[in-house]
Amino acid sequence: MLAYDADLELFRDNFKRFMSEHVAPFYEQWEKEVWSLLGENGYLCVDVPEVYGGYGVPTEYSLMLVEESARAGYGALSTAISCHSEIAAPYILHIANEEQKQYWLPKMVSGEVVGAIGMTEPGAGSDLQGMRSSAILNGDHYVLNGSKTFISNGQHADLVVLAAKTDPQARAKGVSLLLVDTHLDGFKKGTNLDKIGLHSQDTSELFFDNVKVPANQLLGSAGQGFAYLMQELPRERTAIAATALGAIRGAIDITTQYVQERQAFGQKIGSFQNTRFVLAQAKIDELATAAFYNQNLALYKQSKLDVETAAALKSFSTDMQMKIIDSLLQLFGGYGYMTEYPISRFFVDARIQRIYGGTNEIMKEIVARGIIGR
Ligand SMILES: Cc1cc2nc3c(=O)[nH]c(=O)nc-3n(C[C@H](O)[C@H](O)[C@H](O)COP(=O)(O)OP(=O)(O)OC[C@H]3O[C@@H](n4cnc5c(N)ncnc54)[C@H](O)[C@@H]3O)c2cc1C
Repeated sequence: MLAYDADLELFRDNFKRFMSEHVAPFYEQWEKEVWSLLGENGYLCVDVPEVYGGYGVPTEYSLMLVEESARAGYGALSTAISCHSEIAAPYILHIANEEQKQYWLPKMVSGEVVGAIGMTEPGAGSDLQGMRSSAILNGDHYVLNGSKTFISNGQHADLVVLAAKTDPQARAKGVSLLLVDTHLDGFKKGTNLDKIGLHSQDTSELFFDNVKVPANQLLGSAGQGFAYLMQELPRERTAIAATALGAIRGAIDITTQYVQERQAFGQKIGSFQNTRFVLAQAKIDELATAAFYNQNLALYKQSKLDVETAAALKSFSTDMQMKIIDSLLQLFGGYGYMTEYPISRFFVDARIQRIYGGTNEIMKEIVARGIIGR
């Protein structure tokens, strides 16, 4: 085993201990303080270079935190960390200028600033080119108007990596990315949206009414927003797969334990052939998901991960997550439908994975384009 693998396992153990001490007692009342705790304990943006406050460790360390929190049954924590460390921070790390990196990244590492990504609008989800939020340059600032919806971390966010049209007449070529401080005048957060799963994690509408965003908060070049999304979405989709893999493993863990305790017809339900085959199939599917995930991660680390492969992984891993967890919940009988049994939380938290980050239908469209073009 390579030296860093031992370090990764040590880091994994530390994070598991952190979750049982600091997350388990407060999980249902997710508060801003949890972000500070995560930051203080060194669990945010860990692959950000040391010069910006991070550890500068390989990407798998950062993804491991997403995977392990999902495995522990904290799907909401997994998504929250993912949006902050795997989605928002990499946009800054890879595209921002030096001044922007020095301003935002250390605060994201410490948890002082919570990050979010703002793309979706009420009238523009899959069809992002139809977005209507506009940011019009006026001297030394952009005037931002419009709204976003379904924004993860939206209530706690201090910074939103926001897509808006700097040229409203153009479609894709009019889109730019801005680093928007949520404390600016005219920036309003809507209510915390009520979801069927990911209960302790905040998802919000955001409203912009003549928000003056300093021009120096443009991320990269104007009009390049879509190109940057194409560049960064493979990392986001890899992180969604990390959540899927962790959840699959966690669901197998708790089901294995349950079927060895529960009895029917005078025997453990784990002794029925059906139970054994369902668990075996879950394991087989987990191994396939892990192999695809690891291949994808290796490509990412070599800067060779393409949009099609990441889309295929996102679709495959999240379909697997839903299918496996549904089959495992069945082994709990009626108890699986009760919220006090954690398998029910794995189930409701899994459903969104096939929708956000681009729906799995859009993922298949991307894969199809790679095969037969548009
Ligand atoms: C809990 C949650 C968290 C989220 N977090 C974020 C976030 O942090 N930031 C953010 O920007 N967004 C976020 N989203 C938004 C999410 O990415 C979108 O909901 C998703 O991309 C789908 O867009 P939509 O809801 O408008 O559905 P629509 O685009 O209206 O799609 C409806 C249906 O039509 C299908 N469809 C659409 N176009 C096609 C096509 N060309 N071919 C085949 N089928 C098609 C879709 O697959 C879907 O089944 C989040 C959503 C949720 C629910």
